[in-house]
This record gives sequence, C-alpha cells and structure tokens, in this order.
Amino acid sequence: MTPSHAAEGGSAVLVEGVSKVFSTGRRQQVVALTDIDLVVSPGEFVSLIGPSGCGKSTLLRLIADLDQPTTGAVSVFGKTARQARIDQDYGIAFQQAGLLPWRSISENIELPLELHGVGRRARRERSAELLDLVGLTDFADRYPEQLSGGMQQRVAIARSLAESPELLLMDEPFGALDEMTRERMQNELVRICRETAAAVVFVTHSIPEAVFLSDRVVVMSPRPGRIRDVLDVSLGSAGERDDGLREAAGFFATVSAVREALHGTPASAEETAGAARGVDNR
Ligand code: ADP
Ligand code: MG
Repeated sequence: MTPSHAAEGGSAVLVEGVSKVFSTGRRQQVVALTDIDLVVSPGEFVSLIGPSGCGKSTLLRLIADLDQPTTGAVSVFGKTARQARIDQDYGIAFQQAGLLPWRSISENIELPLELHGVGRRARRERSAELLDLVGLTDFADRYPEQLSGGMQQRVAIARSLAESPELLLMDEPFGALDEMTRERMQNELVRICRETAAAVVFVTHSIPEAVFLSDRVVVMSPRPGRIRDVLDVSLGSAGERDDGLREAAGFFATVSAVREALHGTPASAEETAGAARGVDNR
C-alpha cells in the first residue's frame, strides 16, 4: 500500500451511477441498488444505514470488488476497485468473522502481514498490539472455534487493522457484540481512526452507533436501494468523540433526525422522552 493516498487530495471511495441487478432465476431479477452516487473523502467516516435488504452489504461488496456493478463505476483511491483489491488498499471486517479454523487467533491476525511478506518478528509484535487493542491477549494461541461469536468478530476487526489501512470497509462488525463490548469497540474505533486517519465505510443497523461514529450518515431506502438522504453529523470531528457524547443533547437530536430520515416520520414520544432525559442528565 502506498502511504501517501491521503496527501493526494483525491477521494478514498468514489461510487458513480452504480446500480446492481441480481439474476435469481429464469427471467427473475432482484434490483438491489439504483443510481448510487457516493464520495468518501480520505479520513472521513461514513455510515450506511437502512432497512434489511436495501443493498448496504451489496454496496460494500462492490467497493471491495467482491462483486461488480451492473452499471456505473467504483474507484478506490483513484484506482479501479479491482486494482485496489489486488493492492490490498483497505481492511475488511464483515458480519461473518471469516477466520481460518486451522490457524490460531494470532496467526489469523498475522495473515495479511504474512501475505505482504512482513517478517515473523514484526508480525508477532503487531498481532500482540492488536490483540491488546481488542482485549484478547490471553487468547492468542487459541483457535477460532474456542472463542464466542463476539470474540471471533473482535479478531476479524483486529485482522482488518493489521496493516493500518487508510480505508476500512466494515459490515455490521459489532452486530454480535453485547452492548458494553459494543460501546467499548466503538470508542476504540474512534481512537483508531484518529490515530490512523483512516476513512471508513461502515454498515450498521444501529442509529446511535452510526451517529456516534460518523461524519456523515447515508440513509438508504427499501429495495430497490437508493440513497434517500445524507446527514452531516455536526458533533465535532468523528475522531474526537468520547463516551460523554452519548449523553449530549446534540447527540439525541441527531439520532432523531436520522430516525426521521429513515422512517420518514417524526420521532416517537418515547424517543423524544429519551432524548429529554439525555438533556436533563447533563
Ligand atoms: P442489506 O445488507 O441492506 O440487508 P443486501 O445488500 O444483502 O442488503 O441485499 C440487497 C438485496 O439483494 C436483497 O434483496 C438480497 O436478497 C439481494 N441479494 C444480495 N445478494 C444477492 C445475490 N448474490 N443473489 C441474489 N440476490 C441477492
Ligand atoms: Mg447486510
């Protein structure tokens, strides 16, 4: 990976006029995405949120070149999606941890480094750092099947960070985690993004999670997936956030705004009451 992408002033991800149609049988088609235009700048944190089946995973897979658009084009750091995949310009953490069962936890984390010819000692040091980051130091020599689903996901996140990529593609990476671990991982991700200045495209079902983490939240409509709205999160730089923000009035207001964009209706009385409690707590 070339370390100077961010300095080049181009986009981290550029999605232009993308649609995706799946053939699901004779003359049967699923239109998963329509007319998607999206620019993610270097260092920017962008969340994709929308109902199940609206094409979030598909969009992420197109960016990662795991599938190809039916129309339109995707580029990553000014390269074709294919070239960026070959050059391993990003880290990926998807819903399924995708760990290799025959490799230990540390060997799984070291895999991308190994593929890039990083020496054994440097690999070990890096994986120790990452294990510490995700709180799994004691599990370095275990195997994936010996870990819970949530722990496996943390390993996958550590692996995605192995090469300090300038772009992370994450598909509901915290979905299987309990609420406490989830908030801790969110805080860690904020810190990682601050330290590495990585751009992130992050798929989530959780509106508070999207708001807490993002510079912008992209709200998608039900199938055929389109971008319905893009909301700026004006809560200070995404890299400067901490737990205090979770109780701030501006946080609840933004959560309500995203919810409204998602459902097309104002927030419910219950949500408004929750937001008010947040204000009172300060
Ligand atoms: P999301 O991640 O937002 O829940 P997906 O991107 O997984 O949605 O799926 C969008 C739509 O495309 C869904 O209707 C899904 O069934 C369909 N789809 C996704 N992948 C395929 C595929 N490989 N073949 C056929 N249909 C697919
Ligand atoms: Mg999905």
